[in-house]
Order: sequence, then C-alpha cells, then structure tokens
Amino acid sequence: MRYPKLRELKEAITALIKGPYTTKFPKVPHIPFPRFRGKPVPDEKGCIGCGACAQVCPPQSIKVTDVITENPPMRYLRWRHDYCIFCGQCDRLCTTQEGVKLSNEFDLADTKRDNMFNEIKKELVLCSECGEIIAPKDQLMYTYKKLIAMAYSNINLIDFTQKEYLNNINAIVSDKSQLLRRQSSFELLCPKCRHVVWVFDDSGK
Ligand code: SF4
Ligand code: SF4
Repeated sequence: MRYPKLRELKEAITALIKGPYTTKFPKVPHIPFPRFRGKPVPDEKGCIGCGACAQVCPPQSIKVTDVITENPPMRYLRWRHDYCIFCGQCDRLCTTQEGVKLSNEFDLADTKRDNMFNEIKKELVLCSECGEIIAPKDQLMYTYKKLIAMAYSNINLIDFTQKEYLNNINAIVSDKSQLLRRQSSFELLCPKCRHVVWVFDDSGK
C-alpha cells in the first residue's frame, strides 16, 4: 500500500481549512481585472458608420448592411457577440476612437436572439445622379470637421456641409469664420458621376 506523501497531505489539510481555490461564480459575482476584454459596445454618438472596424474584425463578427431603398437610406452596423473573439481590434483601430469600446461584460449567454448583438444605424448620402453610396452623413461631417479650410478641395464636402449648414447652422461649426460659401454651384456626386460631369460636360456621352 502506498501512503500519501507529506506534501500532498499538507495540501489536503490546507484545502480543508481554507476552502477551494476556484471562485464561487455565479453565486458570487466575478469582478474582471482592469484590462479585461469583454463585450464590444458601440456608441451611437462616437461612431460615424465608416465600417473600418468591420474590415479589421478577424472572424467578421461586425456586419455592415446598406439599405438604399429606405427613406432616408440607412447603413446598419451589427456587432454579433456569438462570433466575437474579443480581440479588441475594432476598439483599437476605430477611426474616431470613440465608436466602440470593449466592456468588462463576459457573461453573454442568453436565450433571446435579439440580445446576441448590438446594432447602430447611420443615414447614408447617395450620388444624386446614379444613386451610388458616397458615405454615411456622420462620416462626411467628421471628415469636414477634420479638414476645416482644406475641405474646399472636395466638392462633395462643400455641397454636403452647405446643405447641412442651411438646415442647422449651429450644429455644423462653432467657428463661423470657417463657413463655406459655394453651396449653389455643385451637387453631391460619386467620383464616377463627377468624372462624367466634368469630362463630358454633364451629357454622359
Ligand atoms: S467609427 Fe469606429 S465603430 Fe464606427 S464604423 Fe467606424 S471604425 Fe467602426
Ligand atoms: S473584439 Fe475583435 S472579434 Fe470582436 S467585434 Fe471587435 S474586432 Fe471583431
């Protein structure tokens, strides 16, 4: 008969006195460590709908769907938690750095399908000639605010911001000296239609 070694005996007695090493979750809530990577939570205000996060998501758990038949046309961005591997790429490489953040939430089991994803939607801007998607409205506005005076180099930005400006003067820029003044000269066009207008004198031939 083999007798237990002294070290094993000591560990058994210690475990009897101190209790098990494992946590008591779910009876006692688990508190994740500070840099824990849990459920990605998108932010409606911080996100501009550019879709860059979907391109860097390794398991393609971020789905971007454009619905141009809606009025207004919309882009839907959906984060699927059942596909997510919690790598944090969407958070790290977000264009605005405020569009999505990984939370501490790890207990994602649920019986309702609607609780398995987070979704936000963004209004799209279309080409006035062919209906091609140019970009979400918020993305154009974000680009404009980044470029300020240099936005004069892009006709779509001039046209879009002027129209938005006329709708809501205070929401666009706080510095009124930066306003653009050519709103009636141009239309919103995708690069292809802009090429046709400029090279073929608007006839498309
Ligand atoms: S702003 Fe950030 S979260 Fe929103 S679509 Fe772009 S990369 Fe994704
Ligand atoms: S954490 Fe990684 S896997 Fe999850 S949505 Fe973001 S990029 Fe995709």
